[in-house]
Order: sequence, then structure tokens, then C-alpha cells
Amino acid sequence: MPQLTVVVPAYNEAAVLEAFHRRLSAVLDALPLDTAVLYVDDGSTDGTWAGLEALVAHDPRVHALKLSRNFGKEAALTAGLDHVTEGAAVVIDADLQDPPELIPELVAKWQAGHDVVYATRSARAGETRLKRLTAAGFYRTMERLSDTPLPRDTGDFRLLSRRALDALARLRERQRFMKGLFAWIGYRQTAVHYQREPRQAGRTKWNYWRLIQFAIEGITSFSTAPLRLATWVGLGSSLLAFVYGLWVLTKALIWGDPVRGYPTLMLVILFLGGVQLLALGVIGEYLGRSYAETKQRPLYFVEEERRHGDLSPRG
Ligand code: UDP
Ligand code: MG
Repeated sequence: MPQLTVVVPAYNEAAVLEAFHRRLSAVLDALPLDTAVLYVDDGSTDGTWAGLEALVAHDPRVHALKLSRNFGKEAALTAGLDHVTEGAAVVIDADLQDPPELIPELVAKWQAGHDVVYATRSARAGETRLKRLTAAGFYRTMERLSDTPLPRDTGDFRLLSRRALDALARLRERQRFMKGLFAWIGYRQTAVHYQREPRQAGRTKWNYWRLIQFAIEGITSFSTAPLRLATWVGLGSSLLAFVYGLWVLTKALIWGDPVRGYPTLMLVILFLGGVQLLALGVIGEYLGRSYAETKQRPLYFVEEERRHGDLSPRG
């Protein structure tokens, strides 16, 4: 039984898979632990699954799961972690942006008694200035809004002890903001610092649209601050409207009121309309989330599972 399983979500990573596995294997070979690698093919459309089958055939340490479609990284990670039934797990990206060479350091902290050892990046080489800036802004915003403080500049690259994995397995919410969930479970958490490298090959699946979605997801699944903000904006604008109303009334009573004031009227209507729509949107965002949650759908489906030595593919 492996004491440590490395979980790797992979979506269209055929270009880096071999290089990644070679580097990872070198690291694992040097570890005085019983190790396994679990790849989760998140519905790739390139040669990723074929590549994984080849790895499984050659390396007894490798297991592979194939999800029934692309469920997204968070679900792929969850699928992987669910299948780690014994020992601890390390979560790492397949694109070599998280250096496998850091794993021994994570393991050392784990053996010193920590439950969650996360890797915090000190530099982001090969990423555009804009991405770095937006990422920084995202973490700062999250920090202010969220009820569960997130460690800064931390991706999913981390080690989870057995009890951390057991705790995580009990969080079955559909809106899986993994960084938040990892932090939410608590236990003894600590950081290890490293330099983040540029992607080796292939393309990032992130674009700004996905990043914005991700940010909204992160904020709404870990904070109700936007709801409160809507309340405050509503309160503030009603107060302003009241004061202005008093002024208009007084003015009309004292000086009378020839038909004027179309611009102010328009302004107030448009402004209040905007605020109301915004607040509705925020409420809708949370309502949509509750709706998705109440459906209680499974988080993923496994189409195939391969282990070294399997004769026939399992469904
Ligand atoms: N990934 C996945 N499913 C997806 C998108 C990404 O399993 O729908 C995997 C991907 O193969 C990689 C990791 O998640 O191992 C991180 O993805 P990516 O490098 O695109 O994100 P970034 O490093 O730019 O944040
Ligand atoms: Mg990447």
C-alpha cells in the first residue's frame, strides 16, 4: 500500500506528460517511501489517455483514471483525491509549473507532523505582468472578503495528510473552490517556498474569462460579503434619496416648482435602477449556487480506470 500518492490532473497534456513523468519518477525514486502516481485524465481530446496507458504499462507505480468528460480541474482533483484511500497525497500540476523536486520538502514537513503542506511561490517566471498583477489582486481581494483566510500566492500544489484527506472527502459541495476548501478544513498547515517556473509545453487552459469566473466562484463560495455589500449600497442610496427628496420637497414648498428637473429625475432613476439590478444579480449568483447545490449531482464520473498489470480495461 502506498504511503504517498501523487495526484496529477491532466487535461490535454500529451505534450508534457512524458517529461513530467520522468522528472517526477526521479524524485519519487529517491524518496524513502512507498509511492504511487495517480493521473486523472479530465476528458482530454488529445493523446493524453494513450500516453497514460503507456505509462501504466511501463511503470507499476502509475494508476490512471479517465473521467467521462472534461469536468474542470477542481473535479479532476477531487476524483483523484477520492481514489487515494490509503496514506497521504500530493497534488501537482502536469505542466511542470510546480517543480516535483519540491516534494521531498513537503514530505519532510509532513513527517514533522503537519497535515497540509502548501507550496507558496515566490516568483512567477514566464507569466505576463498582467497575469501576475491580476493574480495578486485576486488574492488580496479574497483575503479581505473571505471568512476563511487563504494563504497568498498558493496554488493547489500541496501535500495532504490522511486526516486532511478524510476531512476533504466530506466536503461534497459542487462549487469546489479547492484552495478555499484546503484552507477551510484546518488542522496543522504550513508553507514551503519555491520559484514558479513557466509552463514547459502545451498551452494554459486559463484565459481571463475563466479567471474571472474562478474569482467569482472563489468569492461567492467562501464569503457572503457581496450580499452584505448589496444591502449597504441599497441602504446608502435610499438614505441619499431621502435627503434629496426632502430638499426637493422643501424647495417646491418654498419657491414652487415650474416643470423642470428632467435631468435629475433621469439620473436618479438610472442610478437606482442600476443599483437594483446589481443587487439582484448578486442575489441571483447566490441563488444559482444554492440551486446547483440542491441538485446533489455527483461531482464527476469515471469512465475508465487503469492499473499496472490490468488485463482488461475496467469500466
Ligand atoms: N486541468 C484539468 N482540467 C481542466 C483544466 C486544467 O485537469 O479543465 C489541469 C491541467 O492539465 C494542469 C492543471 O490542471 O495539470 C493546471 O492547469 P493549467 O496549467 O492550464 O492552469 P495554470 O497553471 O495556468 O493555472
Ligand atoms: Mg499551469
